[in-house]
Amino acid sequence: MPVAIIKDQIFLQHDPGEHHPEQPERLKRIYQRLEQPDLAEITTVLSPRAAIREELLWNHAPEYIDQIEATAGKIRVQLDPDTATSPDSYQAALKAVGAQFVGLEALFQGLCKAVFALVRPPGHHAEYDRAMGFCIFNNVALAAHYVLKRLQGKRVLIIDWDLHHGNGTQHAFYKSAEVLYFSVHQFPYYPGTGRAEEIGQGPGAGFNVNVPFPPGCGDKEYASAFRNILVPVAEQFSPDVILVSAGFDIYYADPLGGMSVTPVGIAYMTRVVKDLAEKLCQGRLLLTLEGGYNLQGLVECVSAVIFELFGRSIIPDDRLQELQNCPGLTEVELHIKELLKPYWRFVPRHD
Ligand SMILES: [Zn+2]
Repeated sequence: MPVAIIKDQIFLQHDPGEHHPEQPERLKRIYQRLEQPDLAEITTVLSPRAAIREELLWNHAPEYIDQIEATAGKIRVQLDPDTATSPDSYQAALKAVGAQFVGLEALFQGLCKAVFALVRPPGHHAEYDRAMGFCIFNNVALAAHYVLKRLQGKRVLIIDWDLHHGNGTQHAFYKSAEVLYFSVHQFPYYPGTGRAEEIGQGPGAGFNVNVPFPPGCGDKEYASAFRNILVPVAEQFSPDVILVSAGFDIYYADPLGGMSVTPVGIAYMTRVVKDLAEKLCQGRLLLTLEGGYNLQGLVECVSAVIFELFGRSIIPDDRLQELQNCPGLTEVELHIKELLKPYWRFVPRHD
């Protein structure tokens, strides 16, 4: 089955300003790469629709939506120190959200198994009532709301492997047991949230899992966190769909990040997530682009994800063995398991 891609020229029209790292060129390079025969023959393209106000209200304040709508047609509006709009940003932001809904409909109708929404602006820093960190509307949080409100889903797993912690997404579901947010991120770092102790509140206690990593972590550390923390929690949570905030600023040469993940590591994380989706929710998996600012790395990582989803892996056998067998008893992991022990079982794996 081909991998469904969601793309649209409107996403190239959002321009936060000259020399901004979150530039249209990011997606332009990805879209160009998608035209190459090796990717074109294994993908199918879906077009986004614009989200409507009623849908945005699931996750954002009415006054905030008004504020963003008012940017339409204006040359430049500075929303926060890092986030600015251009005349078409509002339309792009509406379609970045609507892309999620189109992808979810395709998944729940069984038209495809994996969908990759290649959109901008990104979303995981966007809060209820403010733009933040290059993000305007919280695309993935709105996707989770759509599953619960429109598709009769009961449980949504969000996996956020962007370099940065997704503060907006965490806050959206911090008191909810319906949405489990799992994030691996560089810490301490922007945006400041994402400590391991932030495990959720009230009925949501235990349903927020943060893996704060020091800079310098690479394929092995990420593989270990996925295998030893994400997999057991996801299996017990048993989601109806898996959403991924797929940021590629964890790439080793990213100008904003301090991690050392390679495209092979990205492919491995994709494999773990895809296996979970197949085992737990009929393969239903929606990935959405977040960060990633090394243009060459971004293109390589996105390609690695698509090849892995299709089943044409770039992971060499020896690297696969290595990643599957990494021991993973880092201090961070042990601390997280201790914090989450009241909510989830962590049994030693023997596979
Ligand atoms: Zn990021």
